[in-house]
Amino acid sequence: MTDKLKIEVYSKGWCPYCKKAKAFLKSKNLDYIEYNIDNEEKFEEMKTRTGRKTVPQIIINGQCLGGYDDLIKLEKSGDLDNILGVKSEDYSQKKWDLIIIGAGPAGLNAVLYAARKGIDLLLISKDIGGQVIDTNEIDNYLGKAQINGDDLIMDFWDHIHNYDITAVIGEEILKIESQNGEHILRTDSEKEYIARSVIIASGAEKRHLGMKQEYVLKGKGVHYCISCDGYLYAGKRAAVVGGGNSGLEAALDLAKMDAEVILVEIMDYLMGDEVLREKVASSDKIDVYTSTSVKEIIGEDSLEAVILENKNTGEEKRIELDGLFIEIGLSAKSDFVPDIMERNKQKEIIINDKNETNIEGLFAAGDVSNIIDKQIVISAAEGAKAALRVNQYLS
Ligand SMILES: Cc1cc2nc3c(=O)[nH]c(=O)nc-3n(C[C@H](O)[C@H](O)[C@H](O)COP(=O)(O)OP(=O)(O)OC[C@H]3O[C@@H](n4cnc5c(N)ncnc54)[C@H](O)[C@@H]3O)c2cc1C
Repeated sequence: MTDKLKIEVYSKGWCPYCKKAKAFLKSKNLDYIEYNIDNEEKFEEMKTRTGRKTVPQIIINGQCLGGYDDLIKLEKSGDLDNILGVKSEDYSQKKWDLIIIGAGPAGLNAVLYAARKGIDLLLISKDIGGQVIDTNEIDNYLGKAQINGDDLIMDFWDHIHNYDITAVIGEEILKIESQNGEHILRTDSEKEYIARSVIIASGAEKRHLGMKQEYVLKGKGVHYCISCDGYLYAGKRAAVVGGGNSGLEAALDLAKMDAEVILVEIMDYLMGDEVLREKVASSDKIDVYTSTSVKEIIGEDSLEAVILENKNTGEEKRIELDGLFIEIGLSAKSDFVPDIMERNKQKEIIINDKNETNIEGLFAAGDVSNIIDKQIVISAAEGAKAALRVNQYLS
């Protein structure tokens, strides 16, 4: 790497993609200068330098690379190595004893426990931190009375590096094929990694409504992360779909930003905690539509409106919107597992108390599995358990 490398990151106080970008840079041992666009001057400067107003924006030696997704695309294509003047190693050329998929709490603790057992392992993850990066304050992780998600993950990340860890960050597993005691993992970089055992710790993601325009308008009015994109709708009109805790919190956040908020829930009542329901009920910025679903999302290049349908009366209503936030729960990220792997309706991988799946050599841990409680401390513990069972399996 050249000594003259200057990396600049424009970010905002509470933006998960900024955190992902910074965690990714850190995983490559790259130092960066950070500018917070909460400072109006820095916001103007970022717009002038990059022509964009979303964060993060990453600039390397004066060249604007774009946001987090752009950074990962460059990593996958190998172009980031060229920009940085480095040559990454290709880890697909050997057979690993263990591959761990996912760098959330489950995957990172599995790495720690497996490394301590001296297992020859490779960590492959789309990003570092998983859902924890989307979490602001955490106050239920033992020993950390109050900590930010990104600080906790960076503590995990630094801890595993007490050992000699090999990791590929930015690659996504697209398929696992298992045959003759070997597991072949195909990634979106068109690589194949081979392992004797695999711990799947790929977590969960926000559920989608499943409408065509939802995908077309993703990032162009349709969003899944209030803390990343909510600020774009300050003083504007935005709808939130989902009346659980996340939906209610999203609606309240938007209301705090002086947005005019429409909260849509398909059930006949809001399902979030009472304290949140009370806050929603007392807000004059939030209009609640229960027994209502989104029938259509309208817009070609940017969101224009939604058509809401009352499921009891069949009555339809068009509402012009600037933004739409989908907050309808989580779905396990397990689409890449072998077809014969047993999963439940939520796509969660079914495991036994040894974290074994129904396929020999394939283990699962954390939110991607059918454990009932989805929490950081529980996922981390499941990752540790899985690594210990893999150690037994390998020996
Ligand atoms: C907004 C929010 C707030 C929360 N607050 C709290 C809290 O305060 N306290 C608490 O205990 N819990 C909280 N949780 C729950 C907690 O974050 C999760 O239970 C925990 O992160 C699950 O850990 P995990 O490792 O199983 O999965 P994840 O954290 O989801 O990590 C999965 C990892 O796998 C990677 N991955 C996924 N698919 C692939 C693929 N195909 N190829 C390669 N890599 C892949 C992802 O990039 C990620 O790195 C919160 C969750 C959310 C969304």
